[in-house]
Amino acid sequence: MEHALSTLEPRPVWALFERICRIPHDSGRERALGLELQRLARENGLSAELDPAGNLIVDRPGAPGRRRLILQGHLDMVWQSPEKIEPEERRVLPRLEGDYLTAAPRSSLGADNGIGVAAALTLLLEPPPGAGPLRAIFTVQEEVGLLGAAQLDAKWLEGAVLLNLDSEQEGEICLGCAGGARLTIELPLEREATPPGWLGVELEVSGLPGGHSGMDIDKHRPNAILELAKGLRHHPEIRVSHWETIGPDNAIPRASRVLGAVAPGELPDLPELRPAPLPATLWTAACRERVVTAIGTMPNGVFHFDPAFNVVSGSSNLAGIATAADHLTLLTSQRGMYGNEREQATERVTAHFAALNAVTRLSAVYCNWEPAANSPLPGELKAIYRELFGKFPELKVIHAGLECGLFAERNPRLQMASFGPTIEAPHSPSERLRVSSVARFYRFLRTIVERLA
Ligand SMILES: [Zn+2]
Repeated sequence: MEHALSTLEPRPVWALFERICRIPHDSGRERALGLELQRLARENGLSAELDPAGNLIVDRPGAPGRRRLILQGHLDMVWQSPEKIEPEERRVLPRLEGDYLTAAPRSSLGADNGIGVAAALTLLLEPPPGAGPLRAIFTVQEEVGLLGAAQLDAKWLEGAVLLNLDSEQEGEICLGCAGGARLTIELPLEREATPPGWLGVELEVSGLPGGHSGMDIDKHRPNAILELAKGLRHHPEIRVSHWETIGPDNAIPRASRVLGAVAPGELPDLPELRPAPLPATLWTAACRERVVTAIGTMPNGVFHFDPAFNVVSGSSNLAGIATAADHLTLLTSQRGMYGNEREQATERVTAHFAALNAVTRLSAVYCNWEPAANSPLPGELKAIYRELFGKFPELKVIHAGLECGLFAERNPRLQMASFGPTIEAPHSPSERLRVSSVARFYRFLRTIVERLA
């Protein structure tokens, strides 16, 4: 196992990646890896600091008069495994299969973002001759809400250019990302006792494709909660007691379920309707009408489109619904790429529920990274890529959050771009890294360091 990757090029990158694999480092447990990389940097004469959040910052002075280039990635990985493995035992065992590296069937590989970290640190340890000052910033808890980046002191972001190495498709360079926020909406409920003799029922929508709340929001995927609202609007005879959806709050919901009751003799002919225990109380008919109509007609999906990059730029996703005795909670999130598109989306959803005495709460707000109109960086990267590989890379922006959004907020002058080698199915036990793309990715990165820094 020790030398599983020793035949691969560029050797120092793979050696470092293998070293990273040996240290468990899922989100919230990056400390040991941070300390190990700090020790390695210091042994090689670099200054390396762990900030209070656990982010690692490594510095290498460079040729005088040259701009500082920041290389950035995250230390944590999403550990996914079909086996139950204790946190302290979560070592990745990489395995070569043709042009792919996996850790299957045991776990996810952590190439997101271990390979980016390995490439950046290799360049600080062995920079091209004449390179300018280099800094590496490796954050913690990226995968659980960009928590490390959120705590990074602005002083570390002083530099001309930041290259984020956390993208997953070779040949693409990302130049912007959406900002986002979570909006919870609490709707008051009025209840009455369930009349005796009624029939308890359960209505469920399930097995929908789901998807990412930002990246897939323009793919016309059905939203389980909205599908259920449609069904309830067609069948006012189904009274409601409880409505729920369980799923991640950054996904299009795949399933949703209502528990309720129907008066005897009014049972509709619906295959999705199943008998269930009779609930003690039901929403009053007026309350049910109000709430179901409001949910069924709420603004959701794509709000703004960006024709320049052919991508959604403003959106909202209804992700969850939960019922308490006296209120119903809707969990939504809005995203926006340009200007105040995110705020506009949040206002639009809030306004829709205003007439229902809704209580709304905004949380997890993060900044957008707007593609800079006058930055020379995209042109420079395109030219280098073309020179090396004989074709232009695809420039894009993404409708999801990246750490660059948080950096843009703290240093608006920083020119940024994000790219990486090809990683398929990250965050899953079938995660795999395309080996040949790593050599090209590293060559591209090294050439940028040579030319730009
Ligand atoms: Zn990542």
